[in-house]
Amino acid sequence: MDYSNRVNSKKGAGGIATSEETNVHTKKRVQELLATHILDLDNDPYVFRNHLGILECKLCLTTHNNEASYISHLGGRKHHLNLERRRILDEKQNSQLKFQQKIQDQVSISNIEKRSWNKIGKPTEFKVIKIRDSNTLQIGLLINCKFPKIAVDEPLFRIMSFYELTSKNQNICIKEIEKLRKAENEEDEENEDVGDDEEYEPTKFQYLIISAEPYDNSLIIIPNKNEIDKPQEENKMSNSYWWYWDKDTKEFYLQFLYKN
Ligand SMILES: [Zn+2]
Repeated sequence: MDYSNRVNSKKGAGGIATSEETNVHTKKRVQELLATHILDLDNDPYVFRNHLGILECKLCLTTHNNEASYISHLGGRKHHLNLERRRILDEKQNSQLKFQQKIQDQVSISNIEKRSWNKIGKPTEFKVIKIRDSNTLQIGLLINCKFPKIAVDEPLFRIMSFYELTSKNQNICIKEIEKLRKAENEEDEENEDVGDDEEYEPTKFQYLIISAEPYDNSLIIIPNKNEIDKPQEENKMSNSYWWYWDKDTKEFYLQFLYKN
């Protein structure tokens, strides 16, 4: 394996300064460190010995020819800075996990009613209209967005399940669904029949994402009570599932009906 392009493995790297004086000083320092540090390679999560027998610090991407050199590195400023950076990063991740867990706990103990769509993200003048086909009596949605400053040929969209969303979007959706649930529970305060819990389960919704750069993606939560009546093949339209991009007015339409 060729390590010549790796950080800190250019010729002469890892070598200590040339002057004898510095060498003496370093040796002394290493001895001091050896006296105070017990090198515990098994329990140090950042050190490992590569196939050449050289020690590497995974945190700093440095290589060390012997244990003394690694110990000296442990006491150095670079390693301490990286340790601190790592600690801050870990803390951030931990608090994010806790937050996510909290939201999930809230949702799982939620009690409910029924319901529909809501929009999230930077709105780009969009309307969501509930529709019903007068012949088949199928219900559905007509989505109409304006993207006057669109920089791509046309908007792209995808209908996704909860599991396909990024965890960030999952969290946004969980919060929005929770808001929706609360709003609707308040509306129905006098109504003793509280519907069933599962209707507000985020996995029971579908999520429409419309991308029209440079706009932020629009995310619309759509009810998933019935299957959407659309052709099996991707990117095919039908009477019950179609979209249209008006290049002149910069308006995008998407309409779909649910199976009865
Ligand atoms: Zn290090």
